[in-house]
Amino acid sequence: MVVSDPAHSALDPGALAPTDREHLERAVALARGARDRGDHPFGAVLVTAEGVVVEAMNTVNTGHDPIGHAETNLVRDAGQQLELDELAGSTLYTSTEPCAMCTGAIYWAGIRRIVFALSEGGLREIVGAQDGVPTLALASREVLARGGRAVEVVGPVDLPAATEVHRGFWR
Ligand SMILES: [Zn+2]
Repeated sequence: MVVSDPAHSALDPGALAPTDREHLERAVALARGARDRGDHPFGAVLVTAEGVVVEAMNTVNTGHDPIGHAETNLVRDAGQQLELDELAGSTLYTSTEPCAMCTGAIYWAGIRRIVFALSEGGLREIVGAQDGVPTLALASREVLARGGRAVEVVGPVDLPAATEVHRGFWR
């Protein structure tokens, strides 16, 4: 756990703050790190209102864990380190839109804000074009629309590196 980033100020719903972009760039850097070590290219960062930062990478291959997605790993780690009210005031940044499983994990953690770069549809285009590997074609907003508490979703955010990190991987 790293403490940085001064307190998140209140944002207009759907608005992207300058610090959001920085955290998103960090999530993409983590995705690159995951790819470099042999995992799927996904990374995620959680930042509390007080500026506590928790980071995670995909561990599907290195952890022999089919559900070792970056966001699910992040929710597990953050849940062990933070109190529920801290989770509720946090933003989860992720290099690619959370899949249905990860969106469910984020929802159950009580995290109220998600910011993602590449969309699920954007990933599907890359993956499908390269290999025909199926994705779970369900947008995070669709999953959250079934929930009993509101979760703000911001994205896709145009970040070329978030697309680039997938290039040539899915084959
Ligand atoms: Zn996932």
